[in-house]
Amino acid sequence: MPEYTRPSRVAIVGTGLVGATFAYALMITGMVSEIVLIDANRERAHGEAMDLNHGLPFVRPVRIWDCDYAECAEADVIVIAAGAAQRPGQTRLELVQRNVSILRDIIAQVTRHASRERSILLIVSNPVDILAYAAWKLSGWPAGRVIGSGTVLDTARFRHLLGQYFQVDPRSVHAYIIGEHGDSEVPLWSSANIGGIPLTEFENWDRAAMDDIFAQTRDAAYAIIQAKGATYYAIGLALVRIVEAILHDQRSVLSVSTLMNGDYGLRDVYLSLPAVVGRRGVERVLDLPLSQEEVVGLHRSAGVLRETIAQVEII
Ligand code: NAD
Repeated sequence: MPEYTRPSRVAIVGTGLVGATFAYALMITGMVSEIVLIDANRERAHGEAMDLNHGLPFVRPVRIWDCDYAECAEADVIVIAAGAAQRPGQTRLELVQRNVSILRDIIAQVTRHASRERSILLIVSNPVDILAYAAWKLSGWPAGRVIGSGTVLDTARFRHLLGQYFQVDPRSVHAYIIGEHGDSEVPLWSSANIGGIPLTEFENWDRAAMDDIFAQTRDAAYAIIQAKGATYYAIGLALVRIVEAILHDQRSVLSVSTLMNGDYGLRDVYLSLPAVVGRRGVERVLDLPLSQEEVVGLHRSAGVLRETIAQVEII
């Protein structure tokens, strides 16, 4: 059968704000033929499926329905956006442990039906680096096929803010955020450029302004959550971008969270570095030249993640 006639299916586990917004963005692209929605709250998944289906006369054909895990069998990408929010009085570590427990159930169900030859697991739920690592351990799938959305979102925020400052299209800004998707993340100033020109060579480059842009990038989720309770539009589009790279085997360089295998001397931890993403998931991690300060920051970030991994019970 020619490739283009095979239906491409994306399964979304967790159809809350992030999962449903991603489904909506994906539906508009016309990129896939099937979107299946799974949630512990079946009524919620059903309601989202109904609402999305009512938009079908305005987009290219796509089938969308709520279902159980058996439908993961035919999925090319399974996006996991299920999770509990922090409860009053609950520590961050308690939340991590709770989300790992939720993930354990989900991975057991997914791997019962999905095949590691066909599917890619894409984790979004937070803390994403810890949960992507746990998903890799729990699934037993090859690490390249278990990806965290990582700092793809943070990198987008960074490029937007730099584009705004330097008055250029954010798509022409090449700059990455690496490490943890969280407080210890690291900006890569040494390789940041616009159209090949290092940022420092622009006349309005200013150290304090750059530091402020990074602080705004790192703290963006706090600001948005404070203002409206949750973030979901930009992450929805970031997920579309990752899924596009996978389904079309684009081999795009994206700062996804992936298993470190000796990269920069790091092992046995998931974190973000620019990596080549295609139909088999993460194909390879780029060996980008980093400044001494960036290497130190990356190791510090890996240390934070390792400390959490050591404290949670995964299997
Ligand atoms: P939400 O509360 O709106 O939705 C969570 C959904 O998960 C709910 O519909 C709930 O019913 C479902 N769920 C809970 N337990 C489940 C289980 N065992 N099986 C199936 N479904 C289950 O939350 P949200 O705003 O959509 O956020 C979802 C996750 O995404 C959170 O962990 C959030 O921190 C994370 N997030 C990550 C990024 C990123 O860049 N990685 C960005 C934004 C949000």
